[in-house]
Formats: sequence, structure tokens, C-alpha cells
Amino acid sequence: METLEFQAEARQLLQLMVHSIYSNKDIFLRELISNASDALDKLRLAVLVDGLEADTSDLHIDIEADTEARTLTVRDNGIGMTRDEVVELIGTIAKSGTAELLRKLRESDAESRELIGQFGVGFYSTFMVADRVTLVTRKAGTEHGIRWESGGEGTYTIDDDADAAVGTAVTVHLRPADEEDALFDYVADGKIREIVKKYSDFISFPIRMGDAVLNSMKALWARPRSEVSEEEYKEFYRHISHDWSDPLEIINMKAEGTFEYEALLFLPTRAPHDLFQRDAPHGLQLYVKRVFIMDNSRELMPDYLRFVKGVVDAADLSLNISREILQQDRHIQMIRRRLVKKVLATVTDMMSSDAQKYRTFWQEFGRVVKEGLLAADDNQKAILDISSFASTAAGSDAESGEEQMTTLAGYISRMKEGQEEIYYLTGESRAQVENSPHMEAFRAQGYEVLLLTDPVDEIWVDAVADYDGKKLQSIARGAVDLGEDTDEDKPAEGEYADLLTYLKGALEEQVKDVRLSHRLTTSAACLVSDADDMTPALERMYRAMGQ
Ligand code: ADP
Ligand code: MG
Repeated sequence: METLEFQAEARQLLQLMVHSIYSNKDIFLRELISNASDALDKLRLAVLVDGLEADTSDLHIDIEADTEARTLTVRDNGIGMTRDEVVELIGTIAKSGTAELLRKLRESDAESRELIGQFGVGFYSTFMVADRVTLVTRKAGTEHGIRWESGGEGTYTIDDDADAAVGTAVTVHLRPADEEDALFDYVADGKIREIVKKYSDFISFPIRMGDAVLNSMKALWARPRSEVSEEEYKEFYRHISHDWSDPLEIINMKAEGTFEYEALLFLPTRAPHDLFQRDAPHGLQLYVKRVFIMDNSRELMPDYLRFVKGVVDAADLSLNISREILQQDRHIQMIRRRLVKKVLATVTDMMSSDAQKYRTFWQEFGRVVKEGLLAADDNQKAILDISSFASTAAGSDAESGEEQMTTLAGYISRMKEGQEEIYYLTGESRAQVENSPHMEAFRAQGYEVLLLTDPVDEIWVDAVADYDGKKLQSIARGAVDLGEDTDEDKPAEGEYADLLTYLKGALEEQVKDVRLSHRLTTSAACLVSDADDMTPALERMYRAMGQ
């Protein structure tokens, strides 16, 4: 037997669990069931895709309660873990959100209960109710089992276990009942039944206690929306997304006829920490006629909607479809097109039905959605319709301090008489673009300018020709014609000829040309790119990328 130390972060998190004041301790059971269900999915997948030899005819989760010993065991016959995996997955915390959770918890004492609920702490939540947890596991396809045990106080032991069956059994040794006010009656039948029903009813494997199956196993996406409670949807979302806040929006879809499929999609309330991490897993779960086929199926959603979570259940696919085939399958492509349209339409509806919700959505995911303006599909207009931008006309909300945004339609409705183009300026920050000398003449004459400060803004503006017939025009590029009224006190070119010649000579190495400008009101000079040049920020970006 070996005694090992938890990694520092894991130790801190465990401390929080052990001394947790989080009121809803029931969730430890849902966490164990959720992990067991994932393990069963993984085993089925390993057999289906990798050709692993294992029996998958009776995949299930068993709950055993021992009132005498005050233990509760959740046992699955799923994929199991090797010794290294136990050390890696249980002894450390790889999740990128954990550091942030710990930081937030340290900063705010009052909110800590809610935070724990929001972030979800998975397996470690068992230490809210237990003074000892034992995990016995054997990886499918291996000969030897592993026994892991910990009191949650900094170290754990790990040992071989020759008798372990394939799968994982987690035994929670409940703390003495008198240690806290709330009695832990988790070993009672009724309590377990209630928790399973509440949190895990939709789990697609039987959750058994003795001879009884506690869950209905009904696929949530196959049930009419009117029959499913909000709470059930939320639990399902938590299970598939591993996100612990409620979803922002729930989307049901059902198509009958030539291509039959059902989909249940969720827009999250918050962007995940790894949204911009290239190798972060994302994508939908794919089922074929209620059978789980694969997780993180990227083929069903374009990258610019990679934050969308959910399930697609298709009727007409082969059960042993591979990722390679998936990419070319025309059913999948058709379903994907419909899902994208539906998601964009849902956001469009949200704009009019619940403006605050839309703002949350755009705040969290706008940067990603705008990547879609570069995608070669026919949704550019729809994406522009749901996009909003900071602008010189929209300040911050006096009360909330929240930055007000405008849609392109809103911008156009405010365009000045005779104005033909949508003006914008890109840059690194709102302060930077607002204080840019380019802005002076536009501000002086009351032209609204969109302030584009997301990195992706530098790129999509070149891919979008116009919106509603109005060209998008950078005020830092080319010659912008601000109309007749600027001509009045136009300085005569001739008067400045000598100065211009001198400046051109002096700056020969640095600039292409030196021109007399009417666009400045207080600054003496500003740099302008030609219409087809890169903007300075884009240049910086390419340089940073080493190009
Ligand atoms: P999460 O489920 O969000 O990944 P958890 O803390 O619940 O986080 O679990 C950590 C990891 O431990 C899981 O991702 C999984 O790899 C592994 N694990 C936990 N329980 C089991 C189980 N019953 N069978 C196999 N692996 C498990
Ligand atoms: Mg888990």
C-alpha cells in the first residue's frame, strides 16, 4: 500500500468540502451517479469504436445502503480506471475552472455556498457528507483492480485489489449523525429514491437498489416539452455539460419525414473558461435511436457555435458510424444546417422577447459568434442581425454601468441624412478607439461610429461587404467623404505645398504619402491606411502570429 498526497489545489478544494456549509449536500449522490453514467457510456463507446472486448449487455448502476455501517455504495460496471488514471483523475484537479473557483471562494465568504453549487466539484463533493471514501475500480480489459481510500485530509492511500470487478464502486462512509444538525439519512430508502428521481431520472442506464429500478430512463429529448419540468431540463443540462449554472435557453427540435431526428440544445449562461482553447473538447452528444454514439461531436455544430450543448438523436444513421464518416454524411450536414438556423433564430427571438437575456448571451458569446461571419455558409446576414456593437452613440447605462450596445439595424435607423456608409473603428480597447484622432471629425459632425475592439473584429469586417445595402467603412482607412459641410474652410492645397513636400521627404521611410486632411479638428496629424491596407491592429496581430 502506498500513501500519496493530493495535489495542492485538490487539497484546498477538499478542505472546503470537509468544512462545507453548502446546504444542498444531496448533490454528492447525483455526482456519483453522473460519473457512473459517464463510465458506462465510455465503455460502450470503447467496444463500439475501439473494438474493446467487453460485455455491454447489462450496463447498470447499483446503489447499496448499509444502515448499520452507515455506508452508501454506488457501483457501475463501466470503463473503470487504471492506477495511473486514479492518481491523475482523482488525486489532482485538471479542470481549468478550479483555480478560479478557489480564488473566488477565498475572496468572498458570503457567496461560497452558491459558488460551490455553480462550479460543481464532482467526486470531491462526497466529502461533504463522508469522513472516508473508498473507491475500488478495475479498468475494462485489464487484469488487476485498484483500491483508493481517503479521509479527505491531504493524503490518500492506493493499493492493488485482486478481487475488483470491472467498473467502479465508490463507498461513502457517512459521518456520525450527531456531528451536525442536519441528520444524514442518506442510507434510508426513501431519501435515496427521492434524490435519484429528482436529479438523475433521465440517466439512460438503470439505477437499481435491490430489485427496484429507481429511474424512468426516459430520454428527455423525446418527451414533449410540456411534460418535462424546468428542473428536469436543468439537471439534464448539468449532467451533459458539467456546467453547474442553469442554462440560458433551452431549444427543442423534432423533425419527421425523410430525415428523422430529435434535438435538445442548450445555450449556456456563461462562457466556459476554455472557450478559446483550441484543443478544448466541445460539440454535441450524438445518439442514434436512443443509443449513445459519441460525445463532443463537432460535426453537428460549426466552431462559431461551439458553446452550444445538447443532444441530437438521429433515426437514420448507422450505429457504428465513425468520426470520419460523420464528416461527410449528408444527414449530418443537413441536421447541422437546421440546428444552426434554429439557434440563430432563437437568439433573434430572444432580442425582442427578453432583451436582458440577449445581452447576457451576446456579452458571453458574441466574440465567438462573430467568427461565423468568416464561415463559408449562408448565415452571414442572420449573424449580423443578432450582432451588437459598442458605439459612440450608445454610452454606458447610468445605473448599472453596463455598456450599451447597438445592432446594425439600430445604427442604420440613426444614420444622418445623406450618410451612405456604416462607420466603424477597430482597436484594442474602447478607450483607445474613442480617443483616436480618427474620431475627431466624426464626433464633431455628429456621425455615429461603431467601436470594434474584439480581436475577431479586425478580420470579419473585411469579409462582410455590407449590411442592408450599407457598406461598412473603417474611418481609419482610405478617404472618407463626410459630405459638403466640411468644404467650407477647406485649406488650400497650395498654401501647404512646401510643408507637405518637406514632411514627405522627412518621413519617406515611414509613410507612403502625406496629405492635407479635413478630418481632424484638434489633433495636428493622424495616420491613415489605404483602403486595401491592413489596419494597424491586424498588422500587429499577424506580426504576433509570426507572419
Ligand atoms: P467530472 O465528472 O466533471 O470530470 P469528477 O470529479 O466527477 O469530474 O470526476 C473526475 C474524473 O474521475 C472523471 O472525469 C472520470 O474520468 C473519473 N471518474 C470518476 N468516477 C468514475 C467512475 N465511476 N468510473 C470511471 N471513471 C470515473
Ligand atoms: Mg463528475
